[in-house]
Amino acid sequence: MAKKRKLKCPICGKDVDIPKKNKLPPNFPFCSKRCKLVDLGRWLNEEYKFFEPVSIEQDIKDDEE
Ligand SMILES: [Zn+2]
Repeated sequence: MAKKRKLKCPICGKDVDIPKKNKLPPNFPFCSKRCKLVDLGRWLNEEYKFFEPVSIEQDIKDDEE
């Protein structure tokens, strides 16, 4: 008895059918392109945190003589 394995979309929790190995859909393991983009956006946000330049407060004084 083969059980149909299902995966839950990491974003919305919707059931996603696990495809055959050779037929991975472009959105896998997400249920849709939208959820994939949401995940990508989260990733980018994390990246941005990483690459966020340290804000250096420069003491710019107008010492113009
Ligand atoms: Zn989803």
